Amino acid sequence: MKNCAIVGINWGDEGKGRMVDLLTEGYDVVVRYQGGGNAGHTVINEKGKFALHLLPSGIFRDGVVNVLGNGVALDPENLWIEMQDVRSKGVAITPDNLKISDRASLLMPWHRDMDALEEQRLADKKYGSTKQGIAPFYSDKYQKKTILAGELFYPEELERHLKDILEWKDLTLTRVYGAKAYTMEEVKKWIADFCEPIKPFICDTGEFLRDAQNKGKNILFEAQLGALRDLDYGIYPYTTSSNALAAYAPVGSGLPSLKLTDVIGVVKAYSTCVGEGPFVCEMFGKEADELREKGFEYGAKTGRSRRVGPVDLVATRYGVQVQGATKIALTKMDILGYMDKIPVCVKYEVDGRQIDSFPFPTLLSEAKPVIEYVPGWKCDISGVRRWEDLPRQAQDYVLMIEKAIGCPITYVSVGAERDSIILR
Ligand code: GDP
Repeated sequence: MKNCAIVGINWGDEGKGRMVDLLTEGYDVVVRYQGGGNAGHTVINEKGKFALHLLPSGIFRDGVVNVLGNGVALDPENLWIEMQDVRSKGVAITPDNLKISDRASLLMPWHRDMDALEEQRLADKKYGSTKQGIAPFYSDKYQKKTILAGELFYPEELERHLKDILEWKDLTLTRVYGAKAYTMEEVKKWIADFCEPIKPFICDTGEFLRDAQNKGKNILFEAQLGALRDLDYGIYPYTTSSNALAAYAPVGSGLPSLKLTDVIGVVKAYSTCVGEGPFVCEMFGKEADELREKGFEYGAKTGRSRRVGPVDLVATRYGVQVQGATKIALTKMDILGYMDKIPVCVKYEVDGRQIDSFPFPTLLSEAKPVIEYVPGWKCDISGVRRWEDLPRQAQDYVLMIEKAIGCPITYVSVGAERDSIILR
């Protein structure tokens, strides 16, 4: 029996979806345990190319049961649209292969409004939200002002609860932001349009997972975003509003007492970061444009250009530590094949001092990267499938990162397709 989490070590977009898609073969259940539809996992397989936002990446494998745990921001509107889109490409989604926790809170239409209104108010100080309502959703959840998915089965109580929430929410919408309030009729229509269709998938997923555990099933936990976006351990306040760490997987999935047997951390062979906030190793100008183009670094959800930089050993070592990673998957190695010499951020300089531990968030804005160069391999490695067939410079690059972060790199990914992988 395996309980494995696949998590991002950096700022997100490391290629977690691609690794989950590859590894689901050995697993019976795939669980999403935090976050919402504000990021995208890109998966390319024999059924096509998909940008998944809420659905777990195991949805493409026959026989795999996918779970949306209580820790996710359950956005019925986006989920239903995504389910229809994935189904239209020939993927079966039924209550047998998708289960939604009855304890997951619903992301309501006003959460999206609040997100946009607050970013507008912040103007040039904005956080770079994807405006999917995630921050207002989680703050409402912690204020105990959300609806649980399971409440959809109790219409009378639901209406009473909604009435109280609307009364409170409308105060913020109209008095703080001067925006439009919601009527009960509008909310009821929204529930009929988007919650009713997903109702057959809602159940006690904790019970399902305990049963799966008792039967010795292998369970994979899929995170969204990366360690540096974790609410408590990331680059606050430029974090997401949930815990993206492996440690949260048991709580957010419905198996709070579970012990993970493995944590696979996904690291990109260079760095990317979407949105605002400090990004110490950031590259600019022609060098950055070329890397962005070669790596197709544009957001899966928003199409925004990603900021790019060399691999950041300081941030990556920290990410490995806070995730408690036991193995690393290094992705997008194939992209670096065009570089004569490859830049690596080996330390930060803060206050004239060189440091190799990740500093307190306030210090990040003044930290400067210390860059060293290592030789490139100058060839296309996307067809390589065995470690011994990699050029020596590529092997050295992997070994250099492995040594610096103190965790074995057991997968080297050289392409987006399922089989473009080297196992070590
Ligand atoms: P995630 O959110 O961590 O799953 O990452 P994204 O899906 O946003 O970004 C990763 C992107 O890189 C996707 O477009 C993947 O298809 C692609 N990708 C993942 N691994 C590799 C790789 O090894 N090589 C190449 N060329 N592309 C990759």
